[in-house]
Amino acid sequence: MEKTVQLYEGKAKKVYATEDENLCIVSYKDDATAFNGLKKGTIAQKGIVNNRMTNMMMQLLEKQGVPTHFVKELSDRDTVVKKVKIVPLEVIIRNVSAGSFAKRYGVEEGIPFDEPTIEFSYKNDDLGDPLINDYHALALKLATKEEIELIKKYAFKVNDVLKAYFLTLGVKLIDFKLEFGKTAEGQIVLADEISPDTCRFWDAKTNEKLDKDRFRRDMGGVEDAYKEIFKRVTGD
Ligand code: ADP
Ligand code: UDP
Repeated sequence: MEKTVQLYEGKAKKVYATEDENLCIVSYKDDATAFNGLKKGTIAQKGIVNNRMTNMMMQLLEKQGVPTHFVKELSDRDTVVKKVKIVPLEVIIRNVSAGSFAKRYGVEEGIPFDEPTIEFSYKNDDLGDPLINDYHALALKLATKEEIELIKKYAFKVNDVLKAYFLTLGVKLIDFKLEFGKTAEGQIVLADEISPDTCRFWDAKTNEKLDKDRFRRDMGGVEDAYKEIFKRVTGD
């Protein structure tokens, strides 16, 4: 399988067409951004960590009954995926208060919830990905009612599977963002990535941050944090 034309260059990945119109190749970069692109930088080897880790998570989730876009890992940075039409919703699940939740509601970070929460942002860079609810998503025709229900069901399933998995690695899954897409056949599948760019991971014993917050907050040790979470996942 080979890349033909570049379809899109995003902040962290490039997307290429292939000879098969239903497949594309995503290529993970080391570029990092935060605060809607205001902060820019690079994290050495991040593309490799995020590509390989995403593919492992997608395969684990497929086994547990969540359909995904994953097809085949080609190399350290490149993966064949089903080409989907992305549902323009960022689906965020939280187990513990952090980030914008803590800020918005004026609570400390690190408070565990009795039940996980779900929220949606409208994926639109020009508007700064505003928070929306199911009814707004329906009004904006971003997805159908059935699709939104399915997305919620899959998102909570992803949380159940990943929370339990990361705990076995001594890592608390604090929160994460998912994206879903629609295949040519009209099936809703989990797309995009699952990585330290899109999840908050805290060491279960020390609460040390092993994710992109080290970049967002200029905490230092960013590369080492990515390496550490990668080591726990792959054993490498
Ligand atoms: P951004 O667009 O936010 O800068 P990225 O740099 O990660 O993000 O770019 C990757 C783009 O590819 C994202 O817009 C994402 O929604 C999209 N994408 C992810 N998976 C697929 C897929 N299977 N088919 C088509 N597009 C995808
Ligand atoms: N997230 C993401 N992309 C975004 C916004 C959030 O991957 O555009 C992830 C982020 O890494 C975290 C979770 O979603 O794991 C919740 O992020 P939050 O809403 O707290 O926003 P932030 O603090 O990143 O502004």
